[in-house]
Amino acid sequence: MKELNYKGTAASPGIAVGKLSFFKSGISQIPSYMIYHVESEIMRYENAKKIADNELEALYRRALEVSGGENAEIFSIHRIMLDDPDLCDEIEKNIRERRINAESAVSRAADTFIRMLENTNDAYLKARTTDVRDISERLIKILLGKNTDAAVFSEESILYTDDLTPSEAIQLDKSKILGIVTAYGSSNSHTAILARTNGIPCIVGCGTIPEIFNGQYIAIDGGTGVYEINPSEATIERYKKLMDEEHSRRERLNALKGLPTRTSEGKTIQLYANIGNPGDVDAVIENDAEGIGLFRTEFIFMERTELPSEDEQFRIYQEVVKRMDGKKTVIRTLDIGADKHAEYLKLPIEENPALGLRGIRMCLSKTDMFTGQLRALIRASAYGKLAIMFPMIASVWEIREIKKLIKEICRQLDGDKIKYDHSLEIGIMIETPAAALISDILSSEVDFFSIGTNDLTQYTLAADRQNPAVSRYYRQDHEAVLSLIKTTCDNAHKAGIWVGVCGEIASDMSMVRKLISLGVDELSVSPPMVLPIREKIRNL
Ligand code: PEP
Ligand code: MG
Repeated sequence: MKELNYKGTAASPGIAVGKLSFFKSGISQIPSYMIYHVESEIMRYENAKKIADNELEALYRRALEVSGGENAEIFSIHRIMLDDPDLCDEIEKNIRERRINAESAVSRAADTFIRMLENTNDAYLKARTTDVRDISERLIKILLGKNTDAAVFSEESILYTDDLTPSEAIQLDKSKILGIVTAYGSSNSHTAILARTNGIPCIVGCGTIPEIFNGQYIAIDGGTGVYEINPSEATIERYKKLMDEEHSRRERLNALKGLPTRTSEGKTIQLYANIGNPGDVDAVIENDAEGIGLFRTEFIFMERTELPSEDEQFRIYQEVVKRMDGKKTVIRTLDIGADKHAEYLKLPIEENPALGLRGIRMCLSKTDMFTGQLRALIRASAYGKLAIMFPMIASVWEIREIKKLIKEICRQLDGDKIKYDHSLEIGIMIETPAAALISDILSSEVDFFSIGTNDLTQYTLAADRQNPAVSRYYRQDHEAVLSLIKTTCDNAHKAGIWVGVCGEIASDMSMVRKLISLGVDELSVSPPMVLPIREKIRNL
């Protein structure tokens, strides 16, 4: 057969060559028929729901063991969605009013919900369509008495699928998967995240590959999105060479573990990592980051049905600082609002959420909740080197108000003889142009600055970070953004405090030299970027 080469969207770097194995998810035929006994059909549906809930609980536990919090959380969301009153009502309505069987009622309700989600402008809600499909397929398979387990591969292969649902993704035997190619999905899909977490090369959005290629050889480059079906001997050789190079690169980078992140001129940079949940600490340690520069705590608050208690939060922060074993761990207080939601907080719908009650503004408007998080953080500081950081600061009064709350909490803890670190560092994120411009005043109020270029860019350039239509206008390396970074670094150093960057620009290899020349002391990057950035800095 002729060699065919194509391009999809690069989703997880790495090279793989192997047999293409088609994985068909979903159910080919959903029976649809009239029912006569409504109550017994409702009971069938209720039973299936119970079984699905048990399965999801088991999957949650398994995912937690196998691949940490981020991949496990999705099954908690599925349990919540399974019980979603609107979805349940729609299914019941289909059974009662249309008098159709439970399988068909579930399928129709799921279609209605998927259409609704697809028509929103909210990227987060859009991404939930896969989850609705996942839970509805689970319910239908249970109703049909089919096995809900994922496919088993007898030999190592490169998987081709439409797009994996989270349950399929977690159940796959990763030891047999050399790579993943999907017809649909984005680089933020569950499949892509799973592939990146597990270091599996992955290309998404490749369109339909005809079934005739099932079992044929394929060579994929997850870093560029290029793939070749029926590769010639010469192509296979070329890919093998790339694999060898990747292997040597990995070995070269691994040799940098334990070495200082210092330029040839002797400037030492603190090279930290960004995390979203406690499970990510594994990747921080594995990649030898020197600390955590940003722990986005909103993920503890999202994807659940009620506010996490002070004690629950305390245990999470304590676990993270303990595991970091004396290395600095900068934990950011809740930055919810705008693109991040938590149903139970019942936040008002805003016309302009990015300019609304998000981040610190929301926390200062709900001081009970904020105090709970601050108490949990301050208590956890007794167990390691914890620093607290506040997002979305724009004015001096905000940090003064926060410090008043902290002082009161410390007074209470002292009274109750609860231990904490009395030299705990307090810092702010510089992610509004206002904060950068008054960083001379802010610098006397805090112990450090961390520049959040993701937001600083959107607020400086008036370009929504989520809107692909303005991606041309959204540039973290824009002169205006760099100028604000310079102002912030200069003002921090005048006041004798350290300044870091934790936005995406810190992980951009081509910007490392520039950031260091602007005076940045610390870079906080995604864990897999720690060693490549260390190598870059050591070669400067
Ligand atoms: C930022 O804005 O650069 C940042 C790191 O915070 P987040 O991406 O969580 O808004
Ligand atoms: Mg931000």
